Amino acid sequence: MSTPQLEKTYSPHDVEDRWYQRWIDAGLFHADPADPGQPYAMVIPPPNVTGSLHVGHALNNTLQDILIRWRRMQGRNVLWMPGTDHAGIATQNVVERQLQAEGTTRETLGRDEFLTRVWRWKEKSGGTIISQLKRLGASCDWERERFTMDEGLSEAVREVFVRLHQDGLLYRGERLINWCPRCLTALSDIEVEHEEITGKLYTIRYALADDPAQVLLVATTRPETLLGDTAVAVHPEDERYRHLIGKRVRLPLTTRAIPIVGDSILVDREFGTGAVKITPAHDFNDFEAGNRHALTRIKILDIHANLRLAGSMADPTVAQAVEGLPVAKARPKIEQLLTDQGLLEKSEPHKMALGKCYRCKTVVEPLLSDQWFVKIKPLAEPAIQAVEDGRVRIIPDAWKNNYLGWMRDIKDWCVSRQIWWGHQIPAWYCETCYGTPFLRRSSDGAPLIPSDAVAIVAKTKPDACPLGHRDALVQEPDVLDTWFSSALWPFSTLGWPKQTPELKTFYPTSTLVTGLDILFFWVARMIMMGLKFMGDVPFRDVYIHALVRDAEGQKMSKSKGNVIDPLHVMEQYGTDALRFTLAAMASPGRDVKLAEERIEGYRNFTNKIWNAARFLLMHLDGERIEVAPAQRSFPDRWILSRLNATIRTVTHELEQYRFDRASSAVYQFIWHEYCDKYIEMVKPALKNPNSEQAKSTRQTLAETYETMMRLLHPFMPFITEEIWQTLPHEGDSIVRRPYPTARQDWESQAAEEEFAILEECRELMNQERAILNYPAGKRLHFKVHGKTPEIREVLNKHKKLIEHMENVENLMVGSPQPNILELLTLTGDSVEPATSMQDAELEKVNENVTKQIETRGKEVARIRQKLDNPDFVAKAPSEVLTEQRERLERESRAIRLLEQARQQIGWYISERKRSPTS
Ligand SMILES: [Zn+2]
Ligand SMILES: [Zn+2]
Repeated sequence: MSTPQLEKTYSPHDVEDRWYQRWIDAGLFHADPADPGQPYAMVIPPPNVTGSLHVGHALNNTLQDILIRWRRMQGRNVLWMPGTDHAGIATQNVVERQLQAEGTTRETLGRDEFLTRVWRWKEKSGGTIISQLKRLGASCDWERERFTMDEGLSEAVREVFVRLHQDGLLYRGERLINWCPRCLTALSDIEVEHEEITGKLYTIRYALADDPAQVLLVATTRPETLLGDTAVAVHPEDERYRHLIGKRVRLPLTTRAIPIVGDSILVDREFGTGAVKITPAHDFNDFEAGNRHALTRIKILDIHANLRLAGSMADPTVAQAVEGLPVAKARPKIEQLLTDQGLLEKSEPHKMALGKCYRCKTVVEPLLSDQWFVKIKPLAEPAIQAVEDGRVRIIPDAWKNNYLGWMRDIKDWCVSRQIWWGHQIPAWYCETCYGTPFLRRSSDGAPLIPSDAVAIVAKTKPDACPLGHRDALVQEPDVLDTWFSSALWPFSTLGWPKQTPELKTFYPTSTLVTGLDILFFWVARMIMMGLKFMGDVPFRDVYIHALVRDAEGQKMSKSKGNVIDPLHVMEQYGTDALRFTLAAMASPGRDVKLAEERIEGYRNFTNKIWNAARFLLMHLDGERIEVAPAQRSFPDRWILSRLNATIRTVTHELEQYRFDRASSAVYQFIWHEYCDKYIEMVKPALKNPNSEQAKSTRQTLAETYETMMRLLHPFMPFITEEIWQTLPHEGDSIVRRPYPTARQDWESQAAEEEFAILEECRELMNQERAILNYPAGKRLHFKVHGKTPEIREVLNKHKKLIEHMENVENLMVGSPQPNILELLTLTGDSVEPATSMQDAELEKVNENVTKQIETRGKEVARIRQKLDNPDFVAKAPSEVLTEQRERLERESRAIRLLEQARQQIGWYISERKRSPTS
């Protein structure tokens, strides 16, 4: 029988393309609700249809794919539901930029034509991210790929909207919302990014109307908004101002006088002057205060955030100076006008948070407008409970409090957006009932629905209004927040509102893997909507992974030039190397500091795996024999026992979402135990290919290797499939083979204990060789003392193995021989190997040892200092602490051995000086 061959070197590129296509063709990722096995389902966090794969996606999807492949191999009925998000504002921006390049605008095109253009763009370019996820090896059920605007999901959106409305959980009203003057749409609170900047704090003089000699000093960071002030507030118990409540001040730069009100909520007596202006139409706190005191709201900004002073009664000179200007240009003019009139007391630098649109980074303005809101408290309460009682587990646990804190303080969700691309709100208004036709909005021609118009909410356009008027129904022009449809993702993708077999089998899903940045945007809302509409949580576990940063821990950004492009590194090092790197670095709660060298390092790991496979194939002869594990040689029994332990560890760690520990266990086993030690140990046995021992060793080599490939497959799907196919195996693809499970008959406590003695012996021998600076190729004589008769028996039994592994001639196992000055002896826990110092350049060796003790001593002092610092111990993650303690242990042990050596070398040197002839 001819043995299958592997190319000399591993070339990931053609292997990856070839296998991915075969997996798809064989339908290996497809889920059938009727299949046996306990369901295991996951929904992908749908990437934006405008997206292109970045390292964040790569991390997120690698971790998901590891779980999915592992569970599939475990025999679970696995579904990984893929799809994309229509990404309202982001996608509309992309197409608008294209139109701009063509010299036209969406307003010129009109709504229908514009939407046709967006769909056309989506068909052509919207699949980019999907093909990139395939390159990453993501084993999604692509036959089920969904899009948040496809027919089924849009149906689910309308159903939810109508039901929420019926239940009194949706309302339309004039409220102050965050407004992006560039995107021309409302944003929800969490769509506003806050950036700290240094602005100015202006203190302005407001004179009393009936006694202009008396002034109230009022501080503000936005002086132009004073034109919309409708009151000044002081604390009702503030002795300085209490008597002024009920009087009026003259509003600077206008002909208006406004009241002084007492408000203990808005005013902090200790802050600033203790008097604050109230601008209900342009500030969230002032809006609330305005409601408390029934103040009028004066809008001074239009939708572009340009000043419009018609309602403000501004002085004509003021109006002339700033009318129509954007805020940024108006502010210095207002400052100048105040200065000219002697109304500016002072201005000083001031740190403040500036809100920006998360899509386009334009400064967001609070704006008064008619919007749709979800009344959120009744939805939030059950979602808080579900996390509190553990029906949804948030992992790592630390993020649970973030979730609970935010949910307990949650505000109504503004769900309407003034854009075109998205789910148009299923609400209609009757113009005939209202009495007048609705005005047109100037900017995009959409109808401007009056605040008091009554909405008819329905899944489809009603034939007539309740009074029977036909032909006069106008649909709400606004669309829904993108996150409205993604909140339904775990059940809408399974066919809801229809009761499908998929829904029955796979809901609730098992796990959600996501980044922290969308905990509120998405995760919290999915929990609320799942509980409301499915009566159950959408997933059991939420695993939150960290962010990927550069090697220095800096955020990756194009401007810094520190971006690692996953497509580029996959091309260069192979997809498996990238995946393994990301998994190995995914420690909970700690950012992934990604350096290209790490990926290169794991590329070397793939080469190591490949070379081991080639070694194995060289020795396989096609003959299959069965030797019970207990009957096999010592190295065979040892590697099977280690394999068994590794299987246990990997499985346990994956169950805890410890991708870092799981991958580290596989890596340690393959590289250090199988490749470095086991293969070396069995080389002598393989030299006589017809011996019984060689046969059983070949069996173990192959059996272990095949198991190892299945163990590694979820992390490195491509190389494992390629190699697995060349090994003796059962089945068509590794993708659906069982994941290794621990086997009692592989476990051998005795083999592991014997191995530990040999390891200690070898390690000390290596150190002696290194201390004396003898080259690896030099054959040495060693005497080894075993501390007990049992240890000596083990050493005797494996004498040949030690000689082979350590390049030793005639290993002597015996009692210690004190007072032999020429021998360097290092003392371990069970053994004391000794070798001659005669051939070493001792002066140099001595110097070296002294230097090493010094460097390591410094390191030990450094670690001790850290560990003695209660602050460090309290704050450091437990892993860092363990790592530091282990390091301290290791370094201290090395110093102990080096000191033993220094003493013996010192004696020998002085002895040689005393009797130079010896
Ligand atoms: Zn914007
Ligand atoms: Zn009507």
